[in-house]
Amino acid sequence: MKVHNFNAGPSVLPNEVLYKASKALIDFEGSGMSILEIGHRTSPFIAVMEEARSLVKELMQLEDDFEILYLQGGATMQFLQVPMNLLENGDTAAYVDTGVWSNKAIKEAKSFGFVDVIASSKESNYNHIPKQFNIPPQAKYLHITTNNTIYGTQWQMTPVTDVPLVADMSSDILSRSMDFNKFSLIYAGVQKNMGAAGATMVAVRKSMLGKITRKIPTIMDYKLHIENGSMLNTPPVFAVYISMLTLRWLKEQGGITAIEKINDKKAAMLYDEIDHNPLFRGTVAKEDRSKMNVCFIMDKPEMEEEFLKFCAKEDIVGIKGHRSVGGFRASLYNALPLESVEVMVEAMKYFSLKKA
Ligand SMILES: *Cc1c(COP(=O)(O)O)cnc(C)c1O
Repeated sequence: MKVHNFNAGPSVLPNEVLYKASKALIDFEGSGMSILEIGHRTSPFIAVMEEARSLVKELMQLEDDFEILYLQGGATMQFLQVPMNLLENGDTAAYVDTGVWSNKAIKEAKSFGFVDVIASSKESNYNHIPKQFNIPPQAKYLHITTNNTIYGTQWQMTPVTDVPLVADMSSDILSRSMDFNKFSLIYAGVQKNMGAAGATMVAVRKSMLGKITRKIPTIMDYKLHIENGSMLNTPPVFAVYISMLTLRWLKEQGGITAIEKINDKKAAMLYDEIDHNPLFRGTVAKEDRSKMNVCFIMDKPEMEEEFLKFCAKEDIVGIKGHRSVGGFRASLYNALPLESVEVMVEAMKYFSLKKA
């Protein structure tokens, strides 16, 4: 039996995906070989890679200028690969600081150009998304973190600007409809909403590339990855395969707009309980609440340990909050069934009755 898995990442995957992957682990499409044993330059694997890349484009309805890459090194490597490819020495890049992950992106970008941190919610332990900021017109790009996994805040609107937009969407990619074409580069570690750990998805506009004079090491150069069909070197074959299956699954569910309806419902149910149950309260500004990572605490912190134990008995796992926020964090990624949220809400209700 599966538990109710609220892990922040790596996180829950659809059962169908796990089932298909387990079969492919033994025999990939009748080849007599495991998916782990086939060559990455064979046509069956090239087909997997191409399907994954084209499904990303299709599900996000990206314009033709976009190329999709599956790279390694995690979203963390993108913190440096983005500025390495887009920023010239002396150029400015604008960043909004909305938490630990934005901060890491800012730190790395400083090695490649001037970083203008145009807004930050650090003073209030990142409990909201800054709304007032000026984007320097000369900036080569503006970088935002659309969903702040640790604090549970999420950008509800895309900043309106002529400056190219770059986004770390690791924890809300493919979870809600947006005009993704407003962005010039989007990246996401695939282990939260689009597969298993081991690959990073990068969607980049070709027109953004080749504009700087810096010599970019081969493996770091987006252009070379594109020219080589995202197979400049051995790609993370299994992670790409799981991601492809996860994208197929999402398409079968009806794509982003269909999953968004369920995600909205899951988030509404849980926040509603947090707001109405006297034992619990949310930790961030209501208007910026994340639909992917729901953070909350108890009015009496001494009860938190007991509630965690109670949840564990109900097969609810992965809800301990990040150490920098404390309390609880329930991650409601695409593959988390509505039923798991129902069980969670029931547990909160029951626990509070017991304590009354
Ligand atoms: C998880 C996460 C990361 C880090 O991803 P890695 O793949 O572990 O490098 C970066 N940004 C955000 C928003 C995340 O949620």
